[in-house]
Amino acid sequence: MQEPGIQAKSMQPRPNKYHYGSVIPFGLIHLGALGGLVVPFAGWWLAASYAVRMFGITGGYHRYFSHRSFKLGRAAQFVLAVIAQSSGQKGVLWWAALHRDHHRHADEAADIHSPWRSGFWWSHAGWVLSNEHDHYDPRKIADFSKFPELRWLDRHHWVPTTLLAAATFAFGGATGLVWGYLVPTVLLYHCTFAINSIAHLFGTRRFDTGDESRNNWWLALVTFGEGWHNNHHHSMASARQGYRWWEIDITYGVLKLLSWMRIARDLRPFRA
Ligand SMILES: [Zn+2]
Ligand SMILES: [Zn+2]
Repeated sequence: MQEPGIQAKSMQPRPNKYHYGSVIPFGLIHLGALGGLVVPFAGWWLAASYAVRMFGITGGYHRYFSHRSFKLGRAAQFVLAVIAQSSGQKGVLWWAALHRDHHRHADEAADIHSPWRSGFWWSHAGWVLSNEHDHYDPRKIADFSKFPELRWLDRHHWVPTTLLAAATFAFGGATGLVWGYLVPTVLLYHCTFAINSIAHLFGTRRFDTGDESRNNWWLALVTFGEGWHNNHHHSMASARQGYRWWEIDITYGVLKLLSWMRIARDLRPFRA
């Protein structure tokens, strides 16, 4: 186990050029989630909406589209992209292309969301809301941008999340909207974003990865395995991010299940 190697890195103040097309919906969803203070708690709405979409983010945006750590058929790939985008974290091609950039330059000057370079807020949410990273280089995600249905979904990234909001309201009224959409969407934002901010600042380092990635058991629980972020930076193409048996990785458990059902194939092993 290597101790956290905290080094002084040059900070790069970012211009505060926020994209209001991102800031306004982000703010409104946060405001709407305050409805949880008045609408009676509905645990099943919250748990189901959080769990399915967290898997969409970790199994979809991250392990499948960014890292190709397992294989899927074309229909299953599309369904996973729709589930991922129902979290409201922009388009699948945008997400994966920029995440590949993060690994290419982790915690170096060119990293788009290093807390060591641009501060906590920027690494957590600022970079998502800014117009600095609105666009991605399609060549960095050519393996998936060749599919027209994924290009369409990426261009209309607000469609799945808006449909989910409408469906939760249609089936559950205010309870459905608040506990089945607004509150879990906010939780999904901040738990996902914590991997870019907290998991590059606090935690332990098993592998000398040359960046500041850390392992956090509590983040791993709420992000279904993504908190083993130092493990992931070490073996980024692995379908599994928990390394020891006790490093709980719910996403990997679901992927194993999907492979037994012959939906997912060729889960790539951890390279120690
Ligand atoms: Zn990272
Ligand atoms: Zn990654």
